[in-house]
Amino acid sequence: MSPQPPVSIVIAGGGTAGWMAAAALSRFLGRAAEITLIESEMIGTVGVGEATIPQIHHFNSALGIDEPTFLRETNATFKLGIEFAGWRERDHRYMHGFGLSGRAVGIHPFRDLWLRARLAGTAGELGQYNFNEVAARANRMVGSGQSPASSRDLVYAYHFDATLYAGFLRRMAEANGVTRIEGMIERVEREAHAGDISALALNGDRRVTGDFFIDCTGFRSLLLGQALQVPFADWSRWLPCDRALAVACDRVDGPLRPYTESIARRSGWQWRIPLQHRTGNGLVYSSAHISDDEAAGTLLRNLDAPAKSDPRPIRFTTGHRKQAWSHNCLALGLAAGFMEPLESTSLHLVQTAIARFIKFIPSSPSESQGRNIFNRQTMTEWLQIRDFLVFHYAANGRSGESFWDDVRSMSLPDTLVEKVRLFEESGVVVKEEGELFTEEGWTQVMVGQGIQPRAHSPMTAGIDPRELGDFLSSLANAYQQRAQTLPTHEEWLNHMLNAPAHADAVQ
Ligand SMILES: Cc1cc2nc3c(=O)[nH]c(=O)nc-3n(C[C@H](O)[C@H](O)[C@H](O)COP(=O)(O)OP(=O)(O)OC[C@H]3O[C@@H](n4cnc5c(N)ncnc54)[C@H](O)[C@@H]3O)c2cc1C
Repeated sequence: MSPQPPVSIVIAGGGTAGWMAAAALSRFLGRAAEITLIESEMIGTVGVGEATIPQIHHFNSALGIDEPTFLRETNATFKLGIEFAGWRERDHRYMHGFGLSGRAVGIHPFRDLWLRARLAGTAGELGQYNFNEVAARANRMVGSGQSPASSRDLVYAYHFDATLYAGFLRRMAEANGVTRIEGMIERVEREAHAGDISALALNGDRRVTGDFFIDCTGFRSLLLGQALQVPFADWSRWLPCDRALAVACDRVDGPLRPYTESIARRSGWQWRIPLQHRTGNGLVYSSAHISDDEAAGTLLRNLDAPAKSDPRPIRFTTGHRKQAWSHNCLALGLAAGFMEPLESTSLHLVQTAIARFIKFIPSSPSESQGRNIFNRQTMTEWLQIRDFLVFHYAANGRSGESFWDDVRSMSLPDTLVEKVRLFEESGVVVKEEGELFTEEGWTQVMVGQGIQPRAHSPMTAGIDPRELGDFLSSLANAYQQRAQTLPTHEEWLNHMLNAPAHADAVQ
């Protein structure tokens, strides 16, 4: 049997999504694929995307990237969770810390024990028992770099400079044989019969043909949206923020925080992301509730240090293309859709789409079984994340501010209503098949936003809540003490920055 000829894959766009795809596909497909990436410096990239979730370890380690190299190349810091300030009420704050809260005792999950004691008035705030949160609030950090982390480890992600990350991945991809073409895509050519994409016509009378095309052209969605006319499902009725302003400022003196700050403002929310060399800031807001000038004023007034430039405006509509893969074209990143960075999920969605695509990669463009399953799984993944994000808004208690009043009174997706009612009724959270967010994460955010279950698990009815209270306070004390034995975030970062790269790591 003669060997299968290599499939030729053309990636349109060289933002973070394009270079993640190029680096991963060139590594995993090797000689089975010839990969070309086209990008235009005249257009540039969106250039934001600084916060990640712990699953990024899977992507980096699959690519052979070792942690010290990654930290040095991308100016990264560590992230133990996200603090939500002012979301429930103006002066309230809670954390969605990665990792587990407390520990199970016998057959009882920790959440059930905590709830039993909480309803009896003998438990503290949930965050006291989440070691990630305790360490984050003490600005402490230690990590094994392993994924999944062992139960004693802190579970962490990174803050990084997304542009540097894309550049780093580009060097890897080019070393793996990816051809980069600098050029402007002016036209998408389609076959008359099946309608598949046959070539991209570039400025300077150039034409790039391929078997398969990956649309990473950002919000333009040049191939999937514009050429193939795949409709966009608009979710702005649930996530009405439609603009962002992004600006960096200098790092200020003081402890380096190992968490993202998400601070609710009058008509949206502000992010604050500490990197090694600067702090990334942004305001996500609803243009129906605040003018661009007021939004800029709000952001600039709330920086730690003077802005390094004028805030950069970004407009978006929350939602997604109804099929991420149509004909012989897959869209990744912003070309596939966008949900605001409230839980730092966009780069993760690029990563999972790449992993899924590698599984289903067609030997011929007309094969459709994998495509259908891919689209179904992608849709489910997006819907589940959407519900989680919508919940943050819907459960706010900031009455008297029109934006927050509007999002509190909107009608919610049925899937979300069911989840919240179940938790209110019984304190139970069910993680759906393939769902990104864990029972732990949902519980922290539901409790953090002020949802109080009415009943505890009947299985904990026989446990004495005073004894449970003693157990919980000794656990909280132990976590406090353990946190003080850890290096500070800054110390741990410096340690890792100076660590040698592994001998087999990609440089
Ligand atoms: C306000 C905001 C905050 C965000 N924060 C986070 C976060 O904290 N965490 C996270 O995970 N994600 C975040 N994201 C999402 C993240 O920024 C994107 O998912 C990521 O950067 C991928 O972008 P992209 O590569 O799809 O698009 P882009 O960066 O826009 O890249 C598009 C590419 O296509 C090229 N291109 C377009 N048209 C043409 C053409 N005609 N010819 C040739 N080339 C073309 C461009 O030159 C560019 O190379 C955020 C997004 C926004 C808007």
